[in-house]
Amino acid sequence: MTLRGFPQSAVLTDFGNEKGDDIQARQFFVGGNFKLNGSKQSIKEIVERLNTAQLDPNTEVVIAPPSTYLEYAVSLVKSKQVEVSAQNAYTKGSGAYTGEISVEQVKDVGATWVLLGHSERRTIFKESDEFIAEKTKFALDQGLKVIFCIGETLEERKSGITDSVNQRQLKAALNLVKDWTNVVIAYEPVWAIGTGLAATPEDAQETHKSIRDYLAKELGQEVADSIRILYGGSANGKNAPTFKDKADVDGFLVGGASLKPEFVDIINSRQ
Ligand code: PEP
Repeated sequence: MTLRGFPQSAVLTDFGNEKGDDIQARQFFVGGNFKLNGSKQSIKEIVERLNTAQLDPNTEVVIAPPSTYLEYAVSLVKSKQVEVSAQNAYTKGSGAYTGEISVEQVKDVGATWVLLGHSERRTIFKESDEFIAEKTKFALDQGLKVIFCIGETLEERKSGITDSVNQRQLKAALNLVKDWTNVVIAYEPVWAIGTGLAATPEDAQETHKSIRDYLAKELGQEVADSIRILYGGSANGKNAPTFKDKADVDGFLVGGASLKPEFVDIINSRQ
């Protein structure tokens, strides 16, 4: 059987669940978050590399350049396998909101995804769980797909509250969003982002499994089994293949390494 409400584009191969049913696996997904980096020249180089490289055809790829370059990136991408994401979008369609960008504008220039809840938005820009949830609902209702980021700080991990932090961040969105078909979750421990200290594949798997178990409790097992959960935090060309056999790691959200040639190695790390 196929997973109900699961877009065909995100479905790949068959695997069995505990009951022995034949259900379909989650498509590997690699996102590149360029953050506040890049110029026309460097973005051209990155996209041209993706256009010419041999990408694993089974990987869904999404790149998130700064908003000033969204349309430019869209114009350069040649493959249907690669889509473009905004790094943020507001909760209103238009109006007196100086400095914001709207979902409509993101769609208007051909981008199809938006990153929401990144830890840099949560910490530096003080975005609350509720505000991120509102943005998520608005973006989904207007037809954008969402990479929804969650994750704990080092202090929270040391205090043993990783799962409850992730659940709190998810719960705010679960209160508003009923259909999770167009959401990919990125688990990004804050202590691993930009530090060069990636989580071990075992630690990531353990947390991803807890996230999926929580989603199963809230949304049902079938929906939880269909949602992709990415790992983010110092993923690179070398360590990405070491996550290969982790059942609940469905891809990566990549910051620094998405600007470099090794981004292609991460995209191909399941081969
Ligand atoms: C990110 O910003 O989402 C991220 C994972 O960054 P990095 O890969 O550089 O740690």
